[in-house]
Amino acid sequence: MHPPDSAPATTPAGRFAPSPSGDLHVGNLRTAVLAWLFARSTNRRFLVRVEDLDRVHPGAEVRQLADLAALGLDWDAPPLRQTDRLYAYDAAIADLSARGLVYECFCTRKEILRAASAPHAPDGAYPGTCRNLTAKQAAARRASGRPPALRLRADAAEFEVTDELLGLYTSQVDDVVLRRGDGVPAYNLAVVIDDAAQGVDQVVRGDDLLSSTPRQAYLAALLGLPIPSYAHVPLALNAQGQRLAKRDGAVTLADLAADGRDAAAVLGLIASSLGLAAAPAERVDLPLLLTRFDPARLPREPWVFRPPQSRRP
Ligand code: GLU
Repeated sequence: MHPPDSAPATTPAGRFAPSPSGDLHVGNLRTAVLAWLFARSTNRRFLVRVEDLDRVHPGAEVRQLADLAALGLDWDAPPLRQTDRLYAYDAAIADLSARGLVYECFCTRKEILRAASAPHAPDGAYPGTCRNLTAKQAAARRASGRPPALRLRADAAEFEVTDELLGLYTSQVDDVVLRRGDGVPAYNLAVVIDDAAQGVDQVVRGDDLLSSTPRQAYLAALLGLPIPSYAHVPLALNAQGQRLAKRDGAVTLADLAADGRDAAAVLGLIASSLGLAAAPAERVDLPLLLTRFDPARLPREPWVFRPPQSRRP
């Protein structure tokens, strides 16, 4: 028996939801620290969710949780793993399907890109190619052997959300994928179901996800779930202004430790990047940062992280 998702946890919570596709880098850790500070400064529970529906790197989950703990983050329940929650995504898709809001999509990635770049489909949104296939057309496409993805039959063109840092934000709501052709539930569905089931009413995450937020909020509304409050925080960039990545050098806690910088030193670096420490070398801990935290004073621009030159000979 699975616990019913219809009775979500009621104590409000914030969360950090990493994908265990590799080690967290300082940019991810900084987002985690912010999510913790936002939650704790508003008397929320703090939860961690392992978003392992997609690419999983062996050992990454354990190392990610250990790295979060090493920085001093704590969470109030055992981490929720998405692969344990397939029944909940199935139930939501069944609900939408029973309401006539799901259709099969046979498009390849290439077909979607081609169609989405057409003038009538701005912003790369799915233009609804398979939305109104006749039963005969669908049967013909099915016979070609390509397993269909399932898409939401959205009836809004756009949806507005409020972001605590960025204000009102509107973007297109297209027919978002609910289940991929390979059978895996889509992130945009899982995130909505899980935030509600965990009682998450405050979503703090990297601003690369801002453009997906209106469609997630729309989906929540369709499913009768509460829409959380959002705060999208700037990402960490490398010296070239690109999104920080592992190839940029010593960027993980393990890399930095090997370089003589322990977790406390990395927390100092993160705190100083957020204006919460006078200098990267200041010794800080999370309780101290909590006393200094003020969302209104957070930097609004990306953090450029230059991996330190090795101190080792
Ligand atoms: N799992 C996503 C990531 O690691 C984050 C999803 C979210 O915070 O909503 O990018």
